[in-house]
Amino acid sequence: MTTHACHGLFVTGTDTGIGKTHVAAMIARALVAQGKRVGVYKPAASGCTRDADGNLTSDDAVQLWEAAGRPGDLEHVCPQRFAAPLAPHLAARAEGRELDFDQLRWGLDYWRPRSDVVVVEGAGGLFSPLSDDRLNMDLALALGFPLVIVAPNRLGVLHAVLATVNAAAYYNLKHVRHELKIAAVVLNQPTADDGPADPSRQSNAAVLRQALRPFKVGQFVELPYGAESFPAPIDWIAPARGERAS
Ligand SMILES: [Mg+2]
Repeated sequence: MTTHACHGLFVTGTDTGIGKTHVAAMIARALVAQGKRVGVYKPAASGCTRDADGNLTSDDAVQLWEAAGRPGDLEHVCPQRFAAPLAPHLAARAEGRELDFDQLRWGLDYWRPRSDVVVVEGAGGLFSPLSDDRLNMDLALALGFPLVIVAPNRLGVLHAVLATVNAAAYYNLKHVRHELKIAAVVLNQPTADDGPADPSRQSNAAVLRQALRPFKVGQFVELPYGAESFPAPIDWIAPARGERAS
């Protein structure tokens, strides 16, 4: 099989429903605006909607595909789609199917020759399972792309970010230590500021900037609620190439 030099980012989250797809789509749009050929890949999705013909649609895949300017074929954005809102391999079993772990990896091959950079959206967080014995982290490691860690600006995020960053820096797989590069931590504001008072929202960014200093994190990005683009231009290409951001 021909391997094309193709760069990419693996977008993961500290939790589900915290704006991972939203941020992945923002990155895709920013890269398209720079004239890059952007591939988008969601290796597996659960909680998909079933139409009258029985076809499953991943809303995440559609959102990513639109953000990237509808490259290639939507079918290849997310080849493995399941209905139940469970971890993908469990959602598969709930409908009498099996998730194909190898396909999670080679599904990317469709995008390699037609993309300068591929934005991959994982399913859940680094420790979210993809099979009985494999995690999202194993897929991120296999794909070899640096991480973009999306986290919600709310109470509890300090632990969630530091746990994820530590896990990435010191991942122990079968007694071998691996280090997953971290292109960025994105502190997202997923809800409007009209809910119950959460004073941590005012301090989380500053505390995280300080706490992340010992780690090799390319960028720390803070997003206001409802942001559709990044407040300042961000170099996503350098980290996708495995370089430190300028
Ligand atoms: Mg998503």
